[in-house]
Amino acid sequence: MKTFKIGGVHPSENKFSAGAPVRRAGLPKQAVFSLYQHIGAPAKPVVAKGDVVKVGTMLAEADGFVSVPVHSSVSGKVSKIDAIVDASGYRRPAIFVDVEGDEWEESIDRTPDLVTLDRHPELTAEEIVSRIKAAGIVGMGGATFPCHVKLTPPKGTKAECVIINAVECEPYLTADHRLMLEKPDEILVGVSLIMKAVGVNKGYIGIENNKPDAIALLTEKAKAYPGIEVVPLRVKYPQGGEKQLIAAVTGREVPAPPALPIHVGAVVQNVGTTFAIYEAVMKNKPLFERVITVTGKDVKNPSNLLARIGTPMAQLVEECGGMPEDTGKVIGGGPMMGKALMNLEVPVCKGSSGLLLLSEKEARRMEPQPCIRCAKCVDACPMGLEPYLLATASALRNWELAEENHITSCIECGSCQYTCPSMRPILDNVRMGKTTVMALIRARNAK
Ligand code: SF4
Ligand code: SF4
Repeated sequence: MKTFKIGGVHPSENKFSAGAPVRRAGLPKQAVFSLYQHIGAPAKPVVAKGDVVKVGTMLAEADGFVSVPVHSSVSGKVSKIDAIVDASGYRRPAIFVDVEGDEWEESIDRTPDLVTLDRHPELTAEEIVSRIKAAGIVGMGGATFPCHVKLTPPKGTKAECVIINAVECEPYLTADHRLMLEKPDEILVGVSLIMKAVGVNKGYIGIENNKPDAIALLTEKAKAYPGIEVVPLRVKYPQGGEKQLIAAVTGREVPAPPALPIHVGAVVQNVGTTFAIYEAVMKNKPLFERVITVTGKDVKNPSNLLARIGTPMAQLVEECGGMPEDTGKVIGGGPMMGKALMNLEVPVCKGSSGLLLLSEKEARRMEPQPCIRCAKCVDACPMGLEPYLLATASALRNWELAEENHITSCIECGSCQYTCPSMRPILDNVRMGKTTVMALIRARNAK
């Protein structure tokens, strides 16, 4: 069975919520919309205090090509435009809406009817991309890169295939898995739309073989969708990394940055994003809700919730049985790549794939010991880097050494830190070093 060749680890899966069907989370009393829910320029508000909005009303418009609009997920009144500390830990400008009722924009098709591409032969590639852009779709696996940008290959490049990332290799998370079981046709129409948008006739859906039910269902359903093939993959973390997925599915290796997946002919989209693309193009529905896994060993009802963007995380925790008494840490995302949240007032955003509650014991970090030069981190690194060296260079603020050793290629997967017998905080140091080196490179290039 296929997988990527370099590095990788096998953390415990802990997919407690895999059997929990997606259920709707309740409406919040107040929804908070960060203007920084995507990579690129923040969105620009187009509403003011006191404005009345519906579900689906645009609150803020895209500010440039690498930017997307933000839409309201609730109906009610704009109470203020202020700032919140979001999942990134930074204070960001945000729009606050006090919820009244649940009135949707009439242009959104709320019927459950499946709309297939053959019913809309008039949809051109440009029209598909334009609808995706207008709906504010970003990479929902956590990357939050504007989708329309990825679907507009740069000059001199040509897409050859679409690869859907349905790997969900982060332990604990099951939102994508449930979506595949519950919305397979919508996802397959979404893949057809992406294929048409980038002008290819081959689409792969990469799924790890710890989800045999999703592999079987989508393989069967895909028979009705020309050019789409499900590719079962051997379980290995971080197979959901773009480069690792491309290598696993096609055998092609994406060169070091600034090369992109498109340079080997691949356009990769997450499966949740693919569903959102279906809804945007075929149902005229902006991205204002998403499935998020709320889980942890001590969580009473580990769940997959369809939550409106802007809902405070605290509400989702309550809906899953409340905060376990001995909670030591709350992570936005999965345990490998997620980030600890500062507080539970952080709102759900477009990139929120999971909320993981760890006990004091699970969250406790062991005292780091000296490096024993075992090279386990080197063996685990899927990018072929030397993590111990990058971590040391970063800790010593030796940015030149870090850059020379390709710190910018790090995908922040955490495999190095996971595997280190000396419990060294490798990822923390490498992440900090990568951010600094990238800023230095940007400053150098701007001169
Ligand atoms: S150095 Fe970066 S890419 Fe390599 S294992 Fe560590 S976090 Fe992953
Ligand atoms: S895994 Fe840890 S102890 Fe081993 S070489 Fe890497 S940093 Fe050192």
